[in-house]
Amino acid sequence: MKPIPDALAPWAAHEERGRGRRYAEPPADYRGEYQRDRDRIIHSTAFRRLVYKTQVFVNHEGDLYRTRLTHSLEVAQIARTVARALHLNEPLVEAISLAHDLGHTPFGHAGQDALNECMQSHGGFEHNLQSLRVVDELEAKYADFPGLNLTWETREGILKHCSRRNARELGDLGERFLKRHQPGLEAQLVNLADAIAYNNHDVDDGFRAGLISLEQLCEQSLFREHYDEVHRSWPDLEDRRLIYEVIRRMIGHVVTDLIEHTAAGIESLAPEDIEDVRHHNQLVVGFSESVFEMHTGLKKFLRENLYRHEQVRSMNEKTRAMIEVLFERYMSDPAEMPDWFRDKASAGDAERARAVADYIAGMTDRFAIAEHERLA
Ligand code: MG
Repeated sequence: MKPIPDALAPWAAHEERGRGRRYAEPPADYRGEYQRDRDRIIHSTAFRRLVYKTQVFVNHEGDLYRTRLTHSLEVAQIARTVARALHLNEPLVEAISLAHDLGHTPFGHAGQDALNECMQSHGGFEHNLQSLRVVDELEAKYADFPGLNLTWETREGILKHCSRRNARELGDLGERFLKRHQPGLEAQLVNLADAIAYNNHDVDDGFRAGLISLEQLCEQSLFREHYDEVHRSWPDLEDRRLIYEVIRRMIGHVVTDLIEHTAAGIESLAPEDIEDVRHHNQLVVGFSESVFEMHTGLKKFLRENLYRHEQVRSMNEKTRAMIEVLFERYMSDPAEMPDWFRDKASAGDAERARAVADYIAGMTDRFAIAEHERLA
């Protein structure tokens, strides 16, 4: 294979033409702007807490399952591979990948749904928007500015979806949701790398947990195709190794397709720069039709058989109830929260609810469980 030159494609994000930071800062001596974003994300407390946050299985259910942190690292791995192959901005996709789940509540989607319900009369709760709040405001550690003061392009990538109502309040960052424009290719890419990562690692974790079987998986065409190949080459391989051999092939299959299909899409769009990509009415990063079908088939299978599995559901009900109790307790007594949140809660009803949601959203699974024990 021919060596890949390092030069960025003209339609990639070029930091010298980027839209900059909210608070101007002098450039770093030895790092680019997106590298600096990535470094600030890695040094944030929200990033460290991802290690004790649920992906599918609650932290105490086992040490071998993915957590939000290991999930984010897998997303970064996939996104960087694709970015490099397509001459997109690798440090930028790494920064977006590592930050994309910073706003997740404890207890995964059950936690997010519960918090969203608690916040219904106070503007709701969206984990994507929360990731942006974390990097824009809640990581209060630098002397000169609130948050991490990340570049516009990293923030663009973090804000994957957003309701129209919230988009109106976000100024130029929310504009694309109102105008139905697209984000740059780096942001589009991380979105799909996220889906590739969880589709594959959830097969691994679900099988390991005994919630989905080899027979069920073999009904999925993407799995079946690679299972047959592995089984032919190693008929006596034990299940754990066999599963992993299948998963690595599935990842390779969809990632290769993503690179090739996206390269063809870029060629036919022939954008001059990132602005052409943003103004196009469709996403450019994507799978071929056949891989898209296999990918969404597997996603649907996981939703029906793993995310809605009785064992996952009963844990979700428990954790949902915990979030509801915590929300009520802090709402009625904000002094139970640390000073920083308590002070924010004193400004009015809406501010109180938002401060409580920010506090709960930042918790790890185990901290939320301990707080629930203390307060219930
Ligand atoms: Mg994710």
